[in-house]
Order: sequence, then structure tokens, then C-alpha cells
Amino acid sequence: MEASLTARDRVGIQDFVLLDTYTSETAFLDNLRKRFHENLIYTYIGTLLVSVNPYKELDIYSKKQMDTYMGVNFFELPPHIYALADNAFRTMMSEFNNHFILISGESGAGKTEASKKILQFYAVSCPSTKVLNNVRDRLLLSNPVLEAFGNAKTLKNDNSSRFGKYMDIQFDHQGGAVGGHILSYLLEKSRVVHQNHGERNFHIFYQLVEGGEEDLLRWLGLERNCKHYRYLVQVRETINDIYVGKCAKVSSINDKSDWKTVRKALSVIDLSESDIENLFGIIASVLHMGNIKFEADARGYATLNNNQEMQWVFSPFSVDHAVYARDALAKAIYGRTFSWLVNKINESLANMDSSRKTVIGLLDIYGFEVFSVNSFEQFCINYCNEKLQQLFIELTLKSEQEEYEMEGIEWEPVPYFNNKIICDLVEEKFRGIISLLDEECLRPGEATDLTFLEKMEDKIGGHPHFVTHKLADQKTRKTLERGDFRLLHYAGEVTYCVVGFLDKNNDLLYRNGKEVMRQSKNAIIKHCFPSTEPDSKRRPETVVTQFKNSLVGLTEILMMKEPWYVRCIKPNEAKQPGHFDDVLVRHQVKYLGLMEHLRVRRAGFAYRRKYEIFLQRYKPLCPDTWPNWKGTAAEGVRCLIKHLGYKSDEYKMGRTKIFIRHPRTLFATEDAFQVC
Ligand code: ADP
Ligand code: MG
Repeated sequence: MEASLTARDRVGIQDFVLLDTYTSETAFLDNLRKRFHENLIYTYIGTLLVSVNPYKELDIYSKKQMDTYMGVNFFELPPHIYALADNAFRTMMSEFNNHFILISGESGAGKTEASKKILQFYAVSCPSTKVLNNVRDRLLLSNPVLEAFGNAKTLKNDNSSRFGKYMDIQFDHQGGAVGGHILSYLLEKSRVVHQNHGERNFHIFYQLVEGGEEDLLRWLGLERNCKHYRYLVQVRETINDIYVGKCAKVSSINDKSDWKTVRKALSVIDLSESDIENLFGIIASVLHMGNIKFEADARGYATLNNNQEMQWVFSPFSVDHAVYARDALAKAIYGRTFSWLVNKINESLANMDSSRKTVIGLLDIYGFEVFSVNSFEQFCINYCNEKLQQLFIELTLKSEQEEYEMEGIEWEPVPYFNNKIICDLVEEKFRGIISLLDEECLRPGEATDLTFLEKMEDKIGGHPHFVTHKLADQKTRKTLERGDFRLLHYAGEVTYCVVGFLDKNNDLLYRNGKEVMRQSKNAIIKHCFPSTEPDSKRRPETVVTQFKNSLVGLTEILMMKEPWYVRCIKPNEAKQPGHFDDVLVRHQVKYLGLMEHLRVRRAGFAYRRKYEIFLQRYKPLCPDTWPNWKGTAAEGVRCLIKHLGYKSDEYKMGRTKIFIRHPRTLFATEDAFQVC
């Protein structure tokens, strides 16, 4: 295999662990930059993969490349996302356990692309049969569907995921992909009714309007022009009719051809023709709803100024109120339809075979986000990133060091920033930001966004990671607008505008709206608004609390699996190929904890296994341990590695486990095992 490494592949160092000046951030950056300019976007830190977004198509994802990486030891070929995928797969097959691959990085860094590459690798390279081909197609085609309904152009990324996604890929004993399951997290519903300047609504709206067949559009009563729809070009409702948004066309996106892909994919994932009709009926009606206009009558109550769009039944509302209710309903319809779609995809990926399976989970969740104005959505997204960083710390930096201590291995502790303090600030019971927000949401009529802000100032004003208008000058030099608060996240400062926090967290839907939905003839809507749903009697959980609980659930799922990491880095803000912005990259290297990880890796051990497991697998390699070893497992392992000729600096014997410094030591043993 060595022969396939060319001189170009060797530019810089493939694994940061081998870097001489491994404590220097500058050396780290130099290596990353040097490789980036040679289109070598992948570099390892041990088994962690660092990936720098090339912002151009590279010829490294062909079937031939997949074949090259399938079943080859990790360090024998240039670093690649396929190598990581293959390594996780082979570990799963040999140890019959579950794994997950956590892909992180800020918005636009390449997470979603990385997760697609991994999925493609499994779909194409794993052993397959005719039946499995079916599953394979569904796994692959679930992506364009979810992207159409859940992704949108933002200022950071033309195809930004506006929901979090965790996908389990299930494998049978032969390693065939036999099924899958998707969990989705907090779709950014507010985008349906409002987008910031230079951003778009979810792709599907433009795909339908631009690409939908003539007959379909006629049936849906739609014009082939995005400009006709307020939800797509954003006219502000009240004074002056200010236009914001207005970016229906994006050069990197072809809505017409994407429409065709999505349309086909929908049938592959088992949606019936009537499901599909209903689905587009909903998308069209959301667009129509956006165009409903209200005018005030003599008493100031809202009336419909035309009744083309919809029959609308309402109690006496002011115009603002009516607009609010309309938007709330549009968001609810879209959000629930999205959940329905995820369920449908899960039904089509469900594996009927009940035999034991192992899984590899793929986590592609929205990255850390900082815009010029940040709202409730960014607060949730950035909180989620804090949680994932906490998980990374727990599973690598912390647990690894604790394990050395527990196993009695001599160890010089590596210091790192633990962001638990920020997680607590957000989620601690009774005094965390989430609790304070929920408390204010319980006082309708009295509480406002500003009272929420005051409450925070009062309760957590002294926290080192929290800054408000009043306290701005003392803690950071930068001043803050009244109505803003700032969090010092592990990844940097973010200033949040408090306006809308209460509303978005309450996410109230007027009962009348729900009732109208229940009478709908559209089967999906009927399903999404069931008549048994508790109305206002029992208070539903707030949005942020639901989100928090789902993140706790996710953490539990992940903690039971073996982790693999892909850390994605954004080389520049302009989405340009070939441009490596040192300041920007340095910042990401810092907050992604890459230097600390490198230090732990460098000083530590790549591989560890309980004596029993290690002995069980490799005992055929030594005549003294084969077939039955009479002594303790630790003595057996000692005897085994002596026979294999491990050098003393290559391994350490802990209390219950053997620790092996370099993967290549283990690979050599594994190769010997395969031969015997
Ligand atoms: P994220 O999910 O982290 O927000 P994406 O994965 O959507 O970011 O990547 C943003 C854009 O960057 C993609 O649409 C694509 O144009 C480009 N990109 C990302 N990764 C790659 C890659 N490996 N090769 C080529 N282009 C990429
Ligand atoms: Mg994404």
C-alpha cells in the first residue's frame, strides 16, 4: 500500500501526533495551511480527523478511492474521511459494538458534506445483496429530501442545515447496511415566515415554484414566480412596506434540477402519490397563507381584505395580532409536516429483521453560529454546541486522563478549558437561563422580553460568562445595546437580542387555528393536528425545555457508543477556494480543543483493551496461550506480547487493561491474526 503514497501526499505531516513541535499552535497552523494549499484537506490527530473545507470539488471521492480505503489499515494511506469510516466499521465488525461519529465545526465548515461522504462510503462499499440495495438507495435518498425541507441559504452557508440530525445506520453480521433511523432536532421554524437580509426560506419552496410541473402548479394555484410570495421575498407587514430577504436566486443552487431529484427521491423513500400530493398541497398552502392580508375595520379589528387565499375564522383580533396568529399557524404546519416526513423516512428505513444488529451513528448538527443579530434560534444552536463540546471533553480529555489514573499509569495531566461552567449557566435548575426564561413564559400578560432580561441581570449578572448592557463596561470593553445580552461561549462571544425570546419559547398556537386544521381534508394535516391533542388545559413544555430534554436523550444515546471525531474547519468567511485565513483558522483550532487533544494523544495511548478481550482475540498467535491459558488474563497478555516482540516503550500494563501507544503496533498484531 505504501506505494500508493505519492510525494504530494506527503506534504506536511499526516498526523499531528508526529509533529516535533507539537505544543506550538503556529506549527500546527503551518502544517494545516501547507497541506490545504496542496488540496490535502485531511489531517489526523491520532484517530481524530481534521478536515478543512476546500470550497471546490476535489477528485478524491470516487468509487476507486472508496475501494482503495476499504479494509486498509488506518495509517497506511493518506488521511481521508473514508479511512475513518472504514476504521469505525471494522472495529464494529470485530468487536460487535456500537459506534458514533461526531462531526463538528461552525456553520459552513463542511459537516453535512462529511456526513454525506461517510454515508456514501457505507452504502457503496459494504457487502450488499439485492434486498440491501433497496435499503442503500433509501439511505442515500433520504438526504436530498431532508435537505430540501430542512436546509436553507444563510449568510454563512448556501446550504445550511436548519435542523440537527442524528442517523443510526444498522449493520447485520455480514456488515451489510440493513436499515437506519433518524432523529431530528429543533427545526428552525421561524424561517418559514421570516428570513434575514440575504437569506432564504427552506429550499423546497423555491424548488416547487421554480421546478414544479405546470399541471401541479395550476392545481396548487401557484404562479411560477417567487416574487409573488411574501414568505419568499419578505415584505414587512406594517409601516412602509420595507422589503427584506429578497434573494430568491442563488448562483450555487439550481432549484429546478434539485426539484427533480427530490421528486424522485420521495417515491424511493416510499411516499405514495397521494402522500406526495398532500405534501405539496401543504407547501403551497403555506405560501398562500403568507399572502393573506388583513385590514382594520372601523373598530380596529382585523378583516380579510380579500378571501381568495383562505376562509378564515377568527375571534376579534387587531391586525398585528391576526398577522401573528397567521404566522404561528404557518410555522406549526411546516414544523409538524417536517416531523411527519422524518417519520415517513424512518418507516421506509425500518429493518424488519429482528436479529442482533450493530450500529454506527452519524451526528451532523448545526454548528456554532454568530450573526450580526442573534436571536433565540442562535441561542439554542450555540447551547447545543456547548453540550457537544462537553461530551467531547467527557469522552476524551477528561475520561482518558481519569482512566490513566484509575489504571495506575504514570501521567502528567494536560490542562484544558472545561466549558461545563457555560453549560450550567444555561441549563442549571432554577437559576440557569433556560429556567429563568421558562419562568417568565409562565407569566403571560406581565412578563416581557425585557423583564426576562432584568431577571437575568438580577440572578446571573455576576456570572463570568454573562454580560448585559448594565455590566458591559466592567467585563468586556465593548458596550451593549439595551435589550441585548452577551454570552462568552467556549467558541467566542455572542451577543443575543432578547426581542422575541418569550414568544419563540412559548410557541403558542391559537386554538381556532388548530380547530380549522383538524377539519382539513389533507391526510397529513389531519395526522399532524390530531383531535386528541391536549389544548390549553395542560401546559405544553416550552421549546427550549423540549430541546434541552432531547439533547439529554441524545447524550445518553451517544455515551453508550464508542466515539469517533471529525472536526471541520472553515478556511475563510468568503466561501472561497484556496484562501486560508490564519486568524479565522487559529480561532477554530483553539476552541475546537485541537491542541489539548493533541497533547493528550501525544502523551497517551492510541489503543486500550481489557486483558480478557485482548487475550481472547489474539491468543492463537502464541503457542503458550493457545488454545487455553490457565493463568490470569493479564499474565496471558504479558506472555502473548512477549512472544510478539512488543518493545517496552510501545505499551503499558494497567490494572485491568493493556495500553498500546501507536496504532501501528496493534495493526501489525491484527495483520498477523488475519494471516493465521
Ligand atoms: P456545514 O454543514 O458545516 O454548515 P456544509 O457541509 O453544508 O457545511 O458545507 C458548506 C459548503 O462547503 C458545501 O455546500 C460545499 O460547497 C462546500 N464543501 C464542504 N465540504 C466540502 C468538500 N469536502 N469538498 C468540496 N466542497 C465542500
Ligand atoms: Mg450542515
